Amino acid sequence: MKIPMLDLRGQYLKIKEDIDRSIQDVVDSCSFINGPAVHEFEKNLAGYLGSGYVVGCANGTDALQVAMMALGLQPGDEVIVPSFTFAATAEVVGLLGLVPVLVDVDETTFNIDAQGIVKAISPKTKAIVPVHLFGQAAPMEEIMKIAREHSLFVIEDNAQALGAKYTFADGTQKYLGTIGHIGCTSFFPTKNLGCYGDGGAIFTQDSKLAASIKMVTDHGQKVKYHHDIIGCNSRLDSIQAAILNVKLQHLDGYSAARYSAARIYKELLSGLEEIVLPTEVPYSNHVYHQFTIRVKERDKLREFLASKGIASMTYYPLSLNKQEAFMPISAVRVPLDNSEKLASEVLSLPMHTELNLEIQQNICEAIKEFYKS
Ligand SMILES: *Cc1c(COP(=O)(O)O)cnc(C)c1O
Repeated sequence: MKIPMLDLRGQYLKIKEDIDRSIQDVVDSCSFINGPAVHEFEKNLAGYLGSGYVVGCANGTDALQVAMMALGLQPGDEVIVPSFTFAATAEVVGLLGLVPVLVDVDETTFNIDAQGIVKAISPKTKAIVPVHLFGQAAPMEEIMKIAREHSLFVIEDNAQALGAKYTFADGTQKYLGTIGHIGCTSFFPTKNLGCYGDGGAIFTQDSKLAASIKMVTDHGQKVKYHHDIIGCNSRLDSIQAAILNVKLQHLDGYSAARYSAARIYKELLSGLEEIVLPTEVPYSNHVYHQFTIRVKERDKLREFLASKGIASMTYYPLSLNKQEAFMPISAVRVPLDNSEKLASEVLSLPMHTELNLEIQQNICEAIKEFYKS
C-alpha cells in the first residue's frame, strides 16, 4: 500500500460534475482572460472574507511582489520576514531590490516572534511580512501594534491559512489576510484552496490601495494603453477562477476535514515521547495546511517511512539565513536559533481532505515501529 502526501484526484472526483461544467462554460464562452468567472470569484472571495477588495493574480509569489510594488517600497527599504518560511516570502523582497531582514520564529508555533521584530526594526524598515505558516495565525495583534508604533506596513503572507480566523483580545474575529494593510494568498493546487494550475489573490480593506494593486497587476494602467507606472502582467485566468468558484464553496468543509485528521494524528501519536506534536495557539483556529511534527533523527524516520511506501516531507530543510540566495542580500540582527533547529527537526506527514482512519493508522503504526526498533 502506497500512502502519498496528497490526494488531489480523490478530492476532484467528489466534485467532478461541478468542476467539469465550470471549465466547459469558460471554454464555451471563450472568455479566457478577465472573463466573468474572474470577477465572480473576486466578488465571492471578498464575500467569504466578509469585507474589502480582492484582486486575482497569477500566483502567490506575484501577490507578494504586487503588494510591495503597490505600497511603493523602494530599493534599499527593509522588509522584515520570518527566517523559517517558504523562500517566496523573501524572494520577492530581494527581486525588488529591498532588503529582507530575517527574524526568528517561535519553536512551538513555527510563526514569527513579535519581540524579534521589535529588535530588528531600523530607520529603513518599511514593512513586516508575517507568514501564517502551516495553517495558523502569526501573532497579528502584537504585530499590528508594533506596525502602528513604527509606522510600518503589514503584508500577510496567507498562502497556507486561507479560511482561518484570528480572535482579538476583545473577542472580535477577522479572517487571516484581512488584518494587515494587504493580504496575499496562493491557489497552487496543494494549498488549502487550490486550483488546477497557478493562481493567487491580493486582499485589502482600502479602496485606494485596491486600485493601486489592480493597476500594478495590469501593466501599470488604469485606462487601457495609458501606463502611469511600471507594473507587471499578473492575471488569474478564467478557467482557474471558474474552478475556484466551485471549490470556494467547499473550503470550510475542507478545513474541517483537515482539522479532524489532525485530531486523529494527535490521538494516535499521543504516547510517543520522541515526537513533539504541533500546538494550537489560542488566538487562531488551525486549518492544518501541514501537520508538522518535530523529531530527532528526522531523516532516518523519513527514510524508514519511505521504505514502507509512506510519503513525508521536510518543509523546510534550510532556514533562509542558510540559503545561498539570501546570504548576500539579507540582514540578520537577532539570533535565528529556532529556525535553524526547526529546519533539522520538522517532518510533515500526509495531510489532505481525503485522509481516513485506516490510512492514518498505517502511518502512525509505522512511526511507532521506527521508535520501537
Ligand atoms: C506557496 C507559498 C507561496 C507562493 O505561492 P505560489 O502560488 O507557489 O507562487 C508564498 N508563500 C508561502 C508561505 C507559500 O506557502
